[in-house]
Amino acid sequence: MTSLTAVMLPLVESRLNPSLASYDAIVAAGDPWIHEIRRGQILRIVDVEGNQAADTLFYSANDYSDRYSAQDTIRAQANIYLTTGTRLMSSQGHVLLTIVADTCGRHDTLGGACATESNMVRYGLETRHMHACRQSFVKAVTGWGHGFEKRDITHNINFFMNVPVTPAGKLTFEDGVSAPNKYVELRAEMDVVAVISNCPQLNNPCNAYNPTPIRVLVWDPS
Ligand SMILES: [Zn+2]
Repeated sequence: MTSLTAVMLPLVESRLNPSLASYDAIVAAGDPWIHEIRRGQILRIVDVEGNQAADTLFYSANDYSDRYSAQDTIRAQANIYLTTGTRLMSSQGHVLLTIVADTCGRHDTLGGACATESNMVRYGLETRHMHACRQSFVKAVTGWGHGFEKRDITHNINFFMNVPVTPAGKLTFEDGVSAPNKYVELRAEMDVVAVISNCPQLNNPCNAYNPTPIRVLVWDPS
């Protein structure tokens, strides 16, 4: 952890008051969440109890084929980790949102979302019946409608998740860097749809083997 602390950027706190938010909800452990965030609104995701991964997708609200792109985001900022100042790029080169506050300091966009299939490959056939993020994503987007389908689910952000890359280029799933009430805050630069799977994973340390709730707040432009 010392090497991680040494390279982390300064943490940036928000001045926004939760009591003035226009939307405030708790997403239970393992549940999906979907919501439209209009241009200028601020979205905050809170890791209520700490060490919880919030697997997240973003789409243009007017064109679901224009969606969050991990590779374009990494290339645009020349860094593999997400934190304050990161502009989340879309597959068509638009800025979807900008991270404007972050009290955790690092978020992953390389590790992907857990799926029943990858769980079985990594952790054994007996994990087949365990709930996974991709199922939550499918539930959220098909429930939303408007032509939003399973095929629209692509690479995601893992807020509060620590996936350091070794000097040899290997991905490692480490224990979370987050802690109770750490949050990340994003300003929508266009109308977007946000989809979150509050990760139910029990086979690796991304949720400290104990999935917990997250809180989601939205503020209107001041
Ligand atoms: Zn997951």
